[in-house]
Amino acid sequence: MKSVSVIKVGSLKDPNEATRGKVQVVDIPEQLIGDEDVKIKVAYCAICGSDPHLVENIFGWDVPFGIGHEVSGVIMELGKNATKKGLKVGDRIAGNFLKFCGTCYYCQNGQQQFCEYGNDSNHPGMSEYIVWHESQVYKLPDDVSLKIGCLLEPVSIAVRIMDKIGMKIGQRVAICGGGPIGLLAIQSLKMYGATSLTLIEPISNRRDFAVKYGADYVIDPLTQDVVEVSMSLTNGRGFDVVIDCSGSVKAVNNLPQITAKGGKLIYAAMYPNTFEMPLNLYQYCYFNELTITGLYVAPYAFPRALQLLPRMQLEDFIAKVYPIDQVEEAFAMQVEGKYPKILIQCNSFEKE
Ligand SMILES: [Zn+2]
Ligand SMILES: [Zn+2]
Repeated sequence: MKSVSVIKVGSLKDPNEATRGKVQVVDIPEQLIGDEDVKIKVAYCAICGSDPHLVENIFGWDVPFGIGHEVSGVIMELGKNATKKGLKVGDRIAGNFLKFCGTCYYCQNGQQQFCEYGNDSNHPGMSEYIVWHESQVYKLPDDVSLKIGCLLEPVSIAVRIMDKIGMKIGQRVAICGGGPIGLLAIQSLKMYGATSLTLIEPISNRRDFAVKYGADYVIDPLTQDVVEVSMSLTNGRGFDVVIDCSGSVKAVNNLPQITAKGGKLIYAAMYPNTFEMPLNLYQYCYFNELTITGLYVAPYAFPRALQLLPRMQLEDFIAKVYPIDQVEEAFAMQVEGKYPKILIQCNSFEKE
């Protein structure tokens, strides 16, 4: 079956073709289905903001390795014990690419995200077929299309960000980075009653999306002084909550400066694995009492993400679709950053 693999590691933005990273459709065997598993004919797999970092080999894997984790599809076959959720052949589904074992120390300690066996069944989602454990699979509501459905996983990350904030109504919030997670966070924060909701983002069409989804202010860090503008928007106090969704080493240094005393600062993106950020502990942790944290994946978030899916504005996220055979063009378009999301179509269905 067709599956997308990284066949050469390197930056997709590298102007030199000899060293540029490369993804390609390869032929791999279909996975076998176990008794508790679900075999899925994949409809769409969205490209994640983290996928180009995987091509850069942030996890140090050997090539070729498969990618894709934002998946929707239709159930082809159920293992004989995959009966706990009432799933049926033909159901339209989405899911969590990570299977939490439920048994290890972390799973039993309320910290699924650190599951010691979470990667065991992490099969590449940009494939014609995948096999997932029943626990990873969620039936889509009837009013959610398969295109929207593949956004369940990024929506689950927005849910996790909200969990980490412990948001209070009326708090001032700034988001750095208007990629898909930043834009989903803006929509979620709007529901939460955030005020002075501000996006810091250099790409103008991303700022436009943010305003459309409810941002009160936008800051262009290329032409404006981020700290100065942030202070003028907040009576000189800074934002109660600041969330980095950019992952950009250029953008993250001054975020402690725009966080209010006693505020929360969430580094909610994936960062280069050797990057170290200077942080004045006296100023920000001792004197200003900031709570600084980050997040890895989205435990306990999928049932709520599923509830949110029909309530989010996702039409702009499904505007650009490439067939699986054009995955190289799709990744080239992804790194341009013009669309909030790019979808890979792995199979077509009559009822989308
Ligand atoms: Zn993702
Ligand atoms: Zn576990």
